Amino acid sequence: MKRKISILGSTGSIGRQALEVIDKLQDKFEIIALTAGSNTDLLNEQIKKFKPKYACASDTTKIEGAKHLSLEEICSNKENDIILVAVSGKIGLRPTITAINNGIDIALANKETLVMAGDIVMPLAKEKGVNIIPVDSEHCAIHQCIKDISQVDSLIITASGGPFLHKTVDDMKNATVEQALAHPRWNMGKKITVDSATLMNKGLEVIEAHHLFNMDYDRINVVVHPQSIVHSAIEYVDGSVIAQLGLPSMHIPIQYAITYPERFEGIKSKSFSFAEIARLDFEEPNWDKFKALNLAYDAGRLGGSATVCLNAANEEAVFEFLEGKIKLFDIIHAVEEMMQNHNIIKKPSVDEIFDIDSEIRIKTKEWLKCSMV
Ligand code: NDP
Ligand code: MG
Repeated sequence: MKRKISILGSTGSIGRQALEVIDKLQDKFEIIALTAGSNTDLLNEQIKKFKPKYACASDTTKIEGAKHLSLEEICSNKENDIILVAVSGKIGLRPTITAINNGIDIALANKETLVMAGDIVMPLAKEKGVNIIPVDSEHCAIHQCIKDISQVDSLIITASGGPFLHKTVDDMKNATVEQALAHPRWNMGKKITVDSATLMNKGLEVIEAHHLFNMDYDRINVVVHPQSIVHSAIEYVDGSVIAQLGLPSMHIPIQYAITYPERFEGIKSKSFSFAEIARLDFEEPNWDKFKALNLAYDAGRLGGSATVCLNAANEEAVFEFLEGKIKLFDIIHAVEEMMQNHNIIKKPSVDEIFDIDSEIRIKTKEWLKCSMV
């Protein structure tokens, strides 16, 4: 029987690669819905090729060949066996909660969902018996390594180190947008690529891992591994370490997440060869240079709305950086400033999360404007 799937964010980096996987596994999937933001030209091409019943885009009048439904309506449609949440930003949160409430499994790429509301989303998924299968390569790796979580001592999350791994602090201070976007290993959306340059992405992943695997922050470690072959690992209580390896391609974790628990050859292009890879390097992250990582651990440990604050301040500042208005390190300064002045709400509701998110974004913009004069 074909698995019925919808993709939220089919025009993005993850969404497009998911469609490449599905194209190779056409006999395994039926697409219920595809959604875009503003790229309706690409969405319409995808509709022509994959023939979903429903579609969603910012400008609904431009959708051709599929019936328009909102993200909420798509996620309430119980025809779906699984929904791939591959939109970027906070827009992913409410539809994910709706899908969980409707008992639909989630392949989760969208980081903000867990960073903003992991304490709401994970218990809800448990209550509804819904699987959340991570798409992010590190979490997908850990998901593949874990047999029995109660026997796991710690998680080891690998980080490529991004384009500034061996550059000086001064190089980073003066980094151009182009340099920050030149990721050595992964080709991703712009926001996450800048986060990979500051290591905020790794910080967000630590928070995701805390929620997905219910693991204390003290038991989540980050190690820099420039080749991006070991996608992450776990250490069991008896000292055994299990890692997941593979060539650095997002097709693999995307395919794992949408076909779980089955595996197929799918889009695999090449066999893995240890001899060809020859060496794997590991090093401690430079905590002084990559302060974002510390900030994320701090926010995670503080809990409650602290991670909402971290995420909102970071995202707004990254947008300003991408527009050339601020320097790379101003992103970190803005996050630091917002975190210092944030009054944490311990158990925010979804509405409160969105209120805090909006408030922090406004404050971040104002602060950046004032501090740039
Ligand atoms: P992209 O920016 O490439 O794509 C984002 C997608 O979301 C696009 O389809 C975009 O539509 C859609 N979108 C954006 N804003 C809205 C909105 N307001 N309403 C509706 N749709 C919207 O991002 P990525 O694919 O890189 O990342 C997606 C998510 O997955 C992020 O949360 C990211 O952190 C996470 N992730 C990504 C990885 C990667 O390798 N790229 C790896 C691990 C996690 P349109 O383009 O049509 O405007
Ligand atoms: Mg990742």
